[in-house]
Amino acid sequence: MKKDLMICLGGLAMLVAGLASFQHVSAQGASGNQSAAAKESAGAAKPEDTEQWAPVPVKVLPGASAGAAPSDAIILFDGRNLDEWVRVKDGSPAGWRVDNGTLVVDKATGNIATKRLFKNYQLHLEWRIPADITGEGQARGNSGLYLASTGRGDQGYEIQILDSWENKTYVNGQAASVYKQAPPLVNASRKPGDWQTYDVVWTAPTFHADGTLETPADVTVLHNGVLVQNHFRLLGETLYIGKPAYRKYDRAPIELQAHGDPSAPISFRNIWVRELN
Ligand code: MG
Repeated sequence: MKKDLMICLGGLAMLVAGLASFQHVSAQGASGNQSAAAKESAGAAKPEDTEQWAPVPVKVLPGASAGAAPSDAIILFDGRNLDEWVRVKDGSPAGWRVDNGTLVVDKATGNIATKRLFKNYQLHLEWRIPADITGEGQARGNSGLYLASTGRGDQGYEIQILDSWENKTYVNGQAASVYKQAPPLVNASRKPGDWQTYDVVWTAPTFHADGTLETPADVTVLHNGVLVQNHFRLLGETLYIGKPAYRKYDRAPIELQAHGDPSAPISFRNIWVRELN
């Protein structure tokens, strides 16, 4: 009786071992050429070892079309009003003109900035140079997207906006440049009168408590869907004159520039942001 039970248990153990071996071989079947020693090894790597199951990414409903805001975006301008914006000079209502769903720069009012402060984010913005634009160089449809506004004027980190369809200027000052720091990888401009898009991923700089730089800012930009800045590491704030340098800040508004050149004002539409903090 006892002997029979032992034989029976022994047989069961062999069956279990055989099944385990079969499963192991099956699991390795895709790779096929593993050594016999590897197959026998109790510590052999399995596909499951490198599968991550948690945390599950939050579901986001994408916009209905490319450029449309996804469900988790903060809408900064959707054609209706400037509730999210203020005048940079004094914090008063933004004062630019909302005309037929578009936002038109008012050069007399000056720059406008978001009421909200941001750190790292993804941003979408659309802009249009007037079809009848005049002027040349930096005086032809100049505006700018300040990824972080650090002062009450043109201070911070600017992605240039300009008519660069057929308009010669310094290349680190043409459309989609990181102003005075990095020309765009290519010129993806559309002609005046056409709407253009910027899609930006901004990683803000970080600073030590004493104000010195800990990690530099980094920016990736697509202009009309074309990659024009690829993880560019900024040298500091984008200055009109002088060498870039960093100044400590934590969170900052996003700003749109009212440039003082005499050419006709440009327009914006469909501006949204997704925080990546
Ligand atoms: Mg500018």
